[in-house]
Order: sequence, then C-alpha cells, then structure tokens
Amino acid sequence: MDTDQVIKAARKVSRPYRVDDGGKFNMKDFDPGDTAEFGDEDKPRAKEALQTGVEVLAKLQDVLYAQDRWAVLLIFQAMDAAGKDGAIKHVMSGVNPQGCQVVSFKSPSSEDLDHDFMWRCMKHMPERGRIGIFNRSYYEEVLVVRVHKQILEAQRLPQELVHKGIWDDRCKDIRHLERYLTRNGVIIRKFFLNLSKKEQKKRFLARLDNPDKNWKFSSADLKERGFWKDYAEAYEEAIRNTATEYAPWYVVPADNKWFTRIVVAAAIIDALDSLNLQYPEVDKVKRAELDLAKTSLTKED
Ligand code: ATP
Ligand code: MG
Repeated sequence: MDTDQVIKAARKVSRPYRVDDGGKFNMKDFDPGDTAEFGDEDKPRAKEALQTGVEVLAKLQDVLYAQDRWAVLLIFQAMDAAGKDGAIKHVMSGVNPQGCQVVSFKSPSSEDLDHDFMWRCMKHMPERGRIGIFNRSYYEEVLVVRVHKQILEAQRLPQELVHKGIWDDRCKDIRHLERYLTRNGVIIRKFFLNLSKKEQKKRFLARLDNPDKNWKFSSADLKERGFWKDYAEAYEEAIRNTATEYAPWYVVPADNKWFTRIVVAAAIIDALDSLNLQYPEVDKVKRAELDLAKTSLTKED
C-alpha cells in the first residue's frame, strides 16, 4: 500500500468512532467489543495494518517537525486497565522522540490545587512542530472530580462559585480553551478508550494472577470500579458537551487491544493528513547557501 492508500484506509477505519457533534452522542451506540471488519482470525493482518500505520505516522511526523507550524495535542482518557499506556506506546513507537512528549496527569499536587484547574496542563502544551500526548488531562475535572464531590471541596474554590452548574461551566471553559488552541495552530484529538466492565474484570484478574503484572494492580482501581455507573454518566456528559468539529472525541472500542491501537493510529494519521503538511520550501537565499556549502565541501581534499 502506498501512503495515500494508507491515509484513505485510516480515514475509513477511524471515522465510525469519531464524535464531532456532541449533541447527538449516546454512549450506548458504541460497542466496546467492536472490531469492525476484523475477526479474531484476522489478528495477524491487523498487526500488519498497525505496523504500516505506524510507519506512515512517522513519515507525517517528520514533516510536521520540519515545517514547525502546527502542534498536535492528543488526549487520552479511560477507566483503569483500558490500555492507555499500551496504546500510546505502540502507536507512537515509530515517531522521533525529539518531536513527541508524553505527560501523565495524576492527582494534583498542593501547588496545582492553588491554581485554576487548567494551570498544570497549560504548562505542558506542545510546541509547534511537536506532538504532545496527555495521559489523562483537564477532563479529569469533569470526571473523577464529578464522581467524588469531596475532591471538588478540596479545591478550595470560593464558596459562591461552587454550584450545580459547575460541570456545565467547566465543559464550556474546556470548549473555549480548545477553540483558542485551535486558532493558535494546535490541532486537538481526544480519545476515550471504551472498555466494558466485564473486560476490566478480566484484566484486573490477570494483574492479580500474573507476577509480571502484579505491579500494575492497585486497590484504588478496584474502588473506582465500584463507581462504574457514575463514571459512565460523567464520560457521556463530558463527551456530549465537548465533542466539536475542531476538537472531536474518538470513542475507541477497548475490549481488544489490537483493535484499539489500529483505530488510534488511524485517527492520528487522519488528523495529520488534514493539515496538508509540507516540508519547508527552500527560497533563493537558502538555495544559494546550500550551493555554496556543496562547493566548499566538494573542494575539500
Ligand atoms: P496507570 O494506572 O496505568 O499507572 P493512571 O493514569 O491510572 O495510570 P494512576 O496513578 O493509577 O495513573 O492514577 C491517577 C489518578 O489520578 C486517577 O485515578 C485519576 O482519576 C486521578 N486524577 C487525575 N487528575 C485528577 C484531578 N484533577 N483531580 C483528582 N484526581 C485526579
Ligand atoms: Mg491507575
């Protein structure tokens, strides 16, 4: 397959999971176990497809970096064990580390809590020419904080600013931030890895049974599992309120890791392709400089 064919295929495989009109979004329309046209027997073909995708992604990133105009912000959100880390690792495996940065947002520090909720994320926005990956993000502010109201209390906001409409207000602020970033040349894509409760149980059990995976298990994850329904509602609300044409969500089936990775890679390829990236043009002055350098090097003995 040549690059154009890969780009076309990427669009085809990722578009069904793209949500860019939040008003119409219903979580129940998205099946965590979906694998599109790939059956279980197609896994080797799927692996090959991912490999091809990763190569094309690397090529596009090279141009993004050279052109140095656009920045790319990729946001990953999910329940525990949905495979965020693995998706990031595999999908970005071919890209030049110089042009890519991953930031994980865990529980906020006391310094973070002394500021507005965007503050800690703003410090890590990708530079032009780079891909920035947020492993969790400011979206936690309408997810975990919404599910556990005591976290909101710990944020020490002035009392009169804490009211029922705070989640809608936060989503509005997020939309505005994303609009602002888009207007500044930051292209944003957001991924919700959509895992089923049943598959999460399987993965937790594997973490308990397999000594090499024990380190990944935390009892806190089990506690959060108890709030599954609340999280599902919070995710649905968040996506409804923040899925836009300029910053779409991808609701990626996450029960089969190999398929998750294909969809994520495909969506990023589609996004980069939409930028019409070009290597910088060499103008007359630069041409003369290159010619001069060549002459001088050729003259060396
Ligand atoms: P992994 O488990 O794969 O290491 P993770 O992203 O789950 O990755 P953890 O250290 O397990 O990392 O969890 C981070 C926790 O921090 C999550 O439960 C998340 O909800 C929480 N968190 C992130 N942002 C905020 C926030 N703004 N306020 C409160 N909690 C937050
Ligand atoms: Mg965790």
